[in-house]
Amino acid sequence: MQAPGPRIDATRLYSDPNTRELLRRMLTENLLLEPKIGPDGKAHYPLADEVLGLEVDVNGWVREMLEQAILRKASSREVVMCPVHLRADPMVMVECVKCRSKVSSKRSLIEHVYCGYIGDDSRFDKDGTLQCPNCGRPVKTQGELRVSGVWYECQNCLSKTSSPKLVFICKEGNHEFTSADLTLVNIDTYEVNERVLVELRNTLLLDPELAAMLTEMGYEVSAPAKVQGQSGSVHSLDVYAKKDGETVALQVAVDSKPVDASAVIAFFAKTFDIKPNRSVLVTIPAASEEAKRLEAGYGVSVVEDFDGSGAVKKVKAVIEATARPR
Ligand SMILES: [Zn+2]
Ligand SMILES: [Zn+2]
Ligand SMILES: [Zn+2]
Repeated sequence: MQAPGPRIDATRLYSDPNTRELLRRMLTENLLLEPKIGPDGKAHYPLADEVLGLEVDVNGWVREMLEQAILRKASSREVVMCPVHLRADPMVMVECVKCRSKVSSKRSLIEHVYCGYIGDDSRFDKDGTLQCPNCGRPVKTQGELRVSGVWYECQNCLSKTSSPKLVFICKEGNHEFTSADLTLVNIDTYEVNERVLVELRNTLLLDPELAAMLTEMGYEVSAPAKVQGQSGSVHSLDVYAKKDGETVALQVAVDSKPVDASAVIAFFAKTFDIKPNRSVLVTIPAASEEAKRLEAGYGVSVVEDFDGSGAVKKVKAVIEATARPR
């Protein structure tokens, strides 16, 4: 497992509630960010439009998510686009190479597997039921027939071809373009990058669970929280909770190895200024020995949890154990 990506910008991105909601839905509902061609002929991401709101520049958002390696490309397609209007929703038609008529009919050669007869598909039609024109047997299943050839017949000059010319009609002004003129545009589908999954699961799922637990205990909760310290500086915390003048500051630190002492020191720099009654640092998958040594001296309770699933219970136990007698 690799270390989590650049923290500072990622934290700024995660602090946007719409971003959190979109990533949360992608994780919990197992969704991809899939493009659809909209009524304007451009590629859109309906899920992002729905969650982020139409006024947000979704492409810019996606770019940032890719730069921070929070999202990554899952798959890619090249679609046909009008070279003039840059619309990716042309109508496709078959054109006769001789007379340029756009009225062709598609014909198939069908083989009756039972007797080996091969003929035009229209010949198998007997008053609305399928029947072999050679042996006279009714055709009951698809398996009794085999398609042995397909061609297109111009309804104007009757010329036939098996590889027709395709032409495209742009929705803007109904003008035509051909496969020689068209532009191919790349549209991508995105997924949450595996290397930030653990970190995201905790930011998006554990933080709300911790907040819900404190709310249930009667606290007034902010998550994520911006709290002004005594120095006047504003600090960001994963969760901040208040009840009857008692305050709790919570931070979650996730790493691929035991969380090192710098996480305790960074958290202490905030709590020293905010002065909450209780400071709890949740470390996933564990805290390093040095981090644990600092715990008491810095007045921070360090909770360790291997994958975050038991963290809520452990934090609750710490808060209850240190609750001020009433
Ligand atoms: Zn066009
Ligand atoms: Zn037959
Ligand atoms: Zn023709």
